[in-house]
Amino acid sequence: MSDDGRLRQIPAVQTVIRGIGDIPGVASTWVHTGARQVLAEIRQGVRQGHPVPDLDEIMGRVRARARDLARPHLRSVINATGVMIHTNLGRAPLPMEMMAHLGAIATQYSTLEYRLEQGVRGSRHEHVAGLLAELVGAEAAMVVNNNAAAVLLALSTLAAGKEVVVSRGELVEIGGSFRIPDVMALSGARLVEVGATNKTHDYDYARAINEETALLLKVHQSNFRQIGFVDSVDRATLTALAHSHQLPVMEDLGSGVLLPIRLDGWEEPTVQQVVEAGVDVTTFSGDKLLGGPQAGLVVGRRDIVERMKKHPLARAVRVDKMTLAVLELVLRQYREGRGEQLPLWQMIRMPAEGIKVRAEALRDALGVQAPGLVLDIEPDWSEIGGGSMPGTRVPSWVLTVALPTDRLTAVEEALRRGTVPVVVRVKGGKLVIDLRTVFPEQERPLLNALVEAIQRGHQGSGEGHHEDTGYDQAGAGHGH
Ligand SMILES: *Cc1c(COP(=O)(O)O)cnc(C)c1O
Repeated sequence: MSDDGRLRQIPAVQTVIRGIGDIPGVASTWVHTGARQVLAEIRQGVRQGHPVPDLDEIMGRVRARARDLARPHLRSVINATGVMIHTNLGRAPLPMEMMAHLGAIATQYSTLEYRLEQGVRGSRHEHVAGLLAELVGAEAAMVVNNNAAAVLLALSTLAAGKEVVVSRGELVEIGGSFRIPDVMALSGARLVEVGATNKTHDYDYARAINEETALLLKVHQSNFRQIGFVDSVDRATLTALAHSHQLPVMEDLGSGVLLPIRLDGWEEPTVQQVVEAGVDVTTFSGDKLLGGPQAGLVVGRRDIVERMKKHPLARAVRVDKMTLAVLELVLRQYREGRGEQLPLWQMIRMPAEGIKVRAEALRDALGVQAPGLVLDIEPDWSEIGGGSMPGTRVPSWVLTVALPTDRLTAVEEALRRGTVPVVVRVKGGKLVIDLRTVFPEQERPLLNALVEAIQRGHQGSGEGHHEDTGYDQAGAGHGH
């Protein structure tokens, strides 16, 4: 039959929709959209020489598509990668016990910009500024949408139309197109690069200072390490130099950590240490090592923070009430000496032996429910991730599932696209499951997802055996 003849065999949208009728819990608009999408795909297939599926199969595909369209696109997943601050998977998980407060702030009116004591207008900064400044020993603090915004706001406020001196070893790209030279250009400041890629000395900074200089900037090498013949100027030296010229020093700390951390021979400076060293304004993320919500935290000299608050950009990058609600509770938790109880810190500090015991239990349960698999418990490493402590690893134990190459891909895909999406690592012909980033209450759903995905993977190449989600889920790496 000609293509035209076969195209005419494709049922009309209305025929398919009437045939399906109501799907409980799925609004009819998703059935309509699903039918249009599936029929368009079939038309496309027919033009490429594929046969027309029968009406039952078409209706089955439309039902699956409609159910998928009816689910939120932003979904929770089980992170079995062992990467703790996984930027693609939402960075730091927040404590469940903070959700009731978040719910109240989100669904009711609040004191966001109101002072109950006087009955007058307040500022959204008041809720966390004092707490944050006190925690790190700074004069003042403010919070914006994210750290990228904090850097842009600080540079715009302090150095628009003037020069900013930065070491060539610190012209960092963070990912998602955040590059120090680009942010600098956007702020209206002129970048003055000094030193070499591997070495910058104090005299490099000193020579670059002139009457156009507004700021010396230090940028944390969040996501890479330099080894070998390298040298940089330490904070104390840099601040002494800047202050002798009446210039401020800014540091983009990236992750920003409040608790001492030494892993794999790598030590992050705490925000307290940076402030103590005399850095005039420091910026860092809320959802990296702080373990809170997405936010950009700014701490430093009062006059600088006040100017930043008044800058027109401050409104464009302001933080919303839901973020503030959770951030305040996270900061209070640090203030009360319970920072280590935040989910991220519990993961970081979780002993490998405990993870091994959980992995063995999962192996045993999986062995019973899906017999014949090649399962192993192996020593491996969890990663901090998210542009924090580059390459720093924490010893862990993983469950591995060895599969032939074609099945491996199919099972990995079935895991991502299942009812409860699971993201795993694939290494050396094995699925690698690190329970460090899996919450205990997720272990049962993880087991079920594994059993289901392995059964599907056994049926062949996952295609056609799972609900077609209609969009491509990009492989989740862990950029930042
Ligand atoms: C992560 C990072 C940023 C960006 O922070 P966001 O909170 O993701 O906007 C900026 N600078 C450095 C050095 C970083 O590590």
